[in-house]
Amino acid sequence: MNPFVETLFILQRQSQTRGAAGVIVTPATAKLRVQVPAPVLAHFDRLIAQGRKGVAEVHHGVCSACHLRLPAAVTATGATDEDLHLCENCGAYLRFVDETAAPAKLPVASRVAHGRQTATAGVTE
Ligand SMILES: [Zn+2]
Repeated sequence: MNPFVETLFILQRQSQTRGAAGVIVTPATAKLRVQVPAPVLAHFDRLIAQGRKGVAEVHHGVCSACHLRLPAAVTATGATDEDLHLCENCGAYLRFVDETAAPAKLPVASRVAHGRQTATAGVTE
């Protein structure tokens, strides 16, 4: 994975925005921001300022920002190479998560309701 993606991911978690005014830079984030090339940072800031994700994790080949499936070629190379990859749909930088390790880190799948919803308890007609 590209090393800048991890830095941007940390920045995203710490990011605060002033809407159209853009990203607020704190002393803590400034140290990280200097590690990222200016054009990469500019694109990231633009996404954050728009209220979007600058970095999206890829889970099972799906972009976590726009929830669209990525081309198989992107998911195959992205997990192993050092290139920066962008989601072709939403423009977020892609962070490929190693899904073969640490299954405990995965969020617990929410239960999906199947069939008709049962009436609220106590209400009878
Ligand atoms: Zn996307």
